[in-house]
Amino acid sequence: MPPSLGPRIILHCDLDAFYPSCEIKRNPSLAGKPLIVGADPKGGHGRGVVMSCSYEARKFGVRSGMPISQAYKLCPQGIYVRPDFEFYAETSDRVMSLLRKFADRFEQTSIDEVYLDVGDRCASFDEAIKLARRVKTELKSAEGLTVSVGIAPNKSIAKMASDMNKPDGLTTVRPDDVKTFLEPLSVNKISGVGKKTTEFLQEHGVETIGQLSQIPAKKITDWFGKGGVWLWGIANGIEETPVEERPLRKSISVEQTFERDIQNKGVVKEALESLVLEVHERLLGERLLFRTVGIKVRFEGFQTFTREKTHTGYVDDQDVIREYVGSLFREFEKDRRRIRLVGARLSDLKPAEGRQTRLG
Ligand SMILES: [Mg+2]
Repeated sequence: MPPSLGPRIILHCDLDAFYPSCEIKRNPSLAGKPLIVGADPKGGHGRGVVMSCSYEARKFGVRSGMPISQAYKLCPQGIYVRPDFEFYAETSDRVMSLLRKFADRFEQTSIDEVYLDVGDRCASFDEAIKLARRVKTELKSAEGLTVSVGIAPNKSIAKMASDMNKPDGLTTVRPDDVKTFLEPLSVNKISGVGKKTTEFLQEHGVETIGQLSQIPAKKITDWFGKGGVWLWGIANGIEETPVEERPLRKSISVEQTFERDIQNKGVVKEALESLVLEVHERLLGERLLFRTVGIKVRFEGFQTFTREKTHTGYVDDQDVIREYVGSLFREFEKDRRRIRLVGARLSDLKPAEGRQTRLG
């Protein structure tokens, strides 16, 4: 079949508060309560972070990625539970195979997010809306979970749309509405535009995507190099990245840049602990095992060091990551220079088969 010449129709599905929703699914008495999934606020000297929280907890100002000690100050009455990644990954597997039935092309981007290209089976956006309603109904009855869906002619807009009316949202951006949809949004609504880029753009008088779209392409490439072309395309609603199955990745890396260069190694270690949790979460979300753990340390002045260590066998064990990261970092512990960035990386990956090892 020749590729259709009409606009593409892409759905972005993002499960609502996925970890807390999984917890509520197996313990319905938690529904409606401020539920926080993450580190233990009372153990480990309050180290570690919030991995996810229910909408009720968000009303208290709790956010994912926040230090657990801060969350506890904001919401001492909250219910704090340790993550059970095996359970989340199993649930995600079932959700994803349910969603896959609705797509011509399917691209899972995390444990709870996926793009569906439905252009070959939906002749119009109206049909895609009907399909999205079916997706929501089936997911609700099969798994008791809600999902927010964005429907748009490309991936970046579909993602922004799914974020508009959470939870249980359904937001459609038809080709004719792309410009009006994008114009008023803040530039940081673009996935991949972080704090630094946002601040840089603000300093140059660019607050909204509409304003960004008006900047001459040449100027954007001067500012951001090749990445500028991508950004300009998104701002103008003409991004065309296809929805495609992701090949098996070679590594999973996460990094944290500090807002100020840090000398206090306690702060750096806290950041490393969050990175351990995050990289482990992504490993389980993608159903992978690893053999090699690496760290990256960048000092002020951009001197960067990487170190790695290989385990004897393939594992998915969080404690192995923590132990290796800790021992690799020891080399830098006495260094007096200020640290700008730290990263953790898992490589030598292979798919996990069958059930995963029980996590402590
Ligand atoms: Mg989500």
